[in-house]
Amino acid sequence: MPNLDVFRFEIGAWLEQNCPPEMREPVRDDGDVCWGGRKFKFKSEAQKLWLERCAAKGFTVPDWPKPYGGAGMNASEVKILREEMQRINARPPLSSFGIWMLGPALLKFGTEEQKLYYLNQIARGEIRWCQGYSEPGSGSDLVSLQTYGEDKGDHWVVNGQKIWTSYADQADWIFCLVRTDKTNKYQGISFLLFDMDSPGVTIKPILLISGNSPFCETFFDNVTVPKHQIVGELNRGWDVAKYLLGHEREMISGAGGGDRLNTIGAVAKRNGLEDPLLRAELAMFDVDALAFSALGEKFLDEIKVGKAHPAQPNMIKYAGTELNKRRHELLMAAGGSAALEWDSEGSNGGSKARTWLRTKANSIEGGTSEVMLNVISKRILDLPGA
Ligand SMILES: Cc1cc2nc3c(=O)[nH]c(=O)nc-3n(C[C@H](O)[C@H](O)[C@H](O)COP(=O)(O)OP(=O)(O)OC[C@H]3O[C@@H](n4cnc5c(N)ncnc54)[C@H](O)[C@@H]3O)c2cc1C
Repeated sequence: MPNLDVFRFEIGAWLEQNCPPEMREPVRDDGDVCWGGRKFKFKSEAQKLWLERCAAKGFTVPDWPKPYGGAGMNASEVKILREEMQRINARPPLSSFGIWMLGPALLKFGTEEQKLYYLNQIARGEIRWCQGYSEPGSGSDLVSLQTYGEDKGDHWVVNGQKIWTSYADQADWIFCLVRTDKTNKYQGISFLLFDMDSPGVTIKPILLISGNSPFCETFFDNVTVPKHQIVGELNRGWDVAKYLLGHEREMISGAGGGDRLNTIGAVAKRNGLEDPLLRAELAMFDVDALAFSALGEKFLDEIKVGKAHPAQPNMIKYAGTELNKRRHELLMAAGGSAALEWDSEGSNGGSKARTWLRTKANSIEGGTSEVMLNVISKRILDLPGA
């Protein structure tokens, strides 16, 4: 057998043996997601076991090098692992901003000590991160941020406010953009890491229309941050921030993959909805969903051979999030009035309606669709005056 076939066979056999049956059930809501970290409470023994088994093999971050908690797999091997996991409907063992966002930035910009210290903890699900970028008045125009770190020799004293900090109340640490030079806009920002339990950090959850409070206002009042907790060079945090944003946008674009025609069509059929307009919309959606999946494959191939356009994540972020919003509009239309149920047991606590409302944020988080289109016009299409 060629090497990759042997690899697939071995991975498949390991998964069959080690993935608990409960971890092969579809994820119903956020409670089924394993986020890890000091404050995380496992929903079941199976969830804990699945994380531990995968972490021991490096499967939570298969493409990271082994010394940092990964499995050192190449792109083809990672693809096989994903396919084999999908084949048995295995849930991801661990979901985390550490894996999707901070990890790649540390791999590129971190010191060897930082990589060994933080990446291993991320891979084992021992540390949960939140992202301290946005501030009131500094969202799309992020570079105008005001949170300030005053140099005190061996540490900074940080003061300021962040907003929309997802899961700040559940995170252990924050990766945070802090101004360390007030005279230089772009080259006056540093990328700092610190513990959310540091004295002077206050968190206030924000209630959303979905009824949930997934993000917070985060205040820093004379927070001490030791100098060794900077990633990259002093005042060059913008380079780290932009690199991380590329990974964040790729992650969010993943929302584009999901229910296709068969599933949504079946929902409509169950509800006796044979409306030709709805059918036409479903067909158009399915063509776009296929195109999106082809775009994702193309992007991955280009990454493999080092030919991906640096602004590509903006394109897939825009396409994936707009597609996902359409998907949930259609699911609501196909679901009829029952889809609007908010609290009933049969509706699983209104999960359809709440998920639909949550998708409205897809085209805002990680950079809005308008801002993505600006970047695409300027950097990919090379349009004049954009
Ligand atoms: C679910 C969710 C989770 C989030 N999690 C985090 C997090 O964990 N950490 C974090 O730091 N931030 C987080 N954010 C914040 C997010 O990054 C910002 O909301 C986003 O960057 C937009 O910034 P803003 O909200 O200040 O809107 P603004 O920048 O004020 O934009 C308002 C409107 O103006 C438009 N606009 C702005 N500038 C331009 C322009 N140049 N051209 C055309 N139109 C423009 C925008 O598209 C938008 O429609 C989250 C947001 C959401 C919705």
